[in-house]
Amino acid sequence: MDTAAVGSRLSESVLTNSDGRQRPSQAEAESAVRTLIKWAGDDPDREGLVGTPERVVRAYKEFFAGYNKDPVALLAKTFEERTVYDEMIVLRDIRLESHCEHHIVPILGKVHIGYLPAGRVVGISKLARLVEVFAKRMQIQETLTSQIADTIQDVLKPSGVGVVIEAAHQCMTTRGIRKPGVSMVTSRMLGSFRDDLTTRREFIATIGHLSSGSNGS
Ligand SMILES: [Zn+2]
Repeated sequence: MDTAAVGSRLSESVLTNSDGRQRPSQAEAESAVRTLIKWAGDDPDREGLVGTPERVVRAYKEFFAGYNKDPVALLAKTFEERTVYDEMIVLRDIRLESHCEHHIVPILGKVHIGYLPAGRVVGISKLARLVEVFAKRMQIQETLTSQIADTIQDVLKPSGVGVVIEAAHQCMTTRGIRKPGVSMVTSRMLGSFRDDLTTRREFIATIGHLSSGSNGS
């Protein structure tokens, strides 16, 4: 049995972070889930729960796959230089599935991204994947919004970028103050999206259904 082999590949049970910190093994993670089940008041050895620690750990791999991906490399790899297209590009209604870092429960919503290219554009699927890299981490919505906008600004260097996220936090809707139907809207505007009112208005108009759908909350 080769327990010494420690790599950074997903398929291996022990992962090492980019900063060299070794993550707990899958067995340790499953044992932690067993502890939580017992702490909640149930028996992790009863039939329905026997496979649960393994399933939870597998779900965590999916929920938090973003820690294994580099958002800068994702965008940098595919940009095309010297494009002549210099109109606003908007991708709206990107499905958002993330987890809040305070309770590790889902944040579900939509992301809208707009940018005004200055020589570099990326395929729209890259923007959706960029959202996913940051969403599949433990997050707060404000940070998530900034990270998406800042990465686009840093890598593509457009003349402006805007990111708007509208999302419902299940830690608010199913526990604590229990406010179903409330969604939170955050935005980050950079460059011309911040400084030029016309550009900002064009972006907001393009994602316009937002104001009609958020019913003033
Ligand atoms: Zn929360």
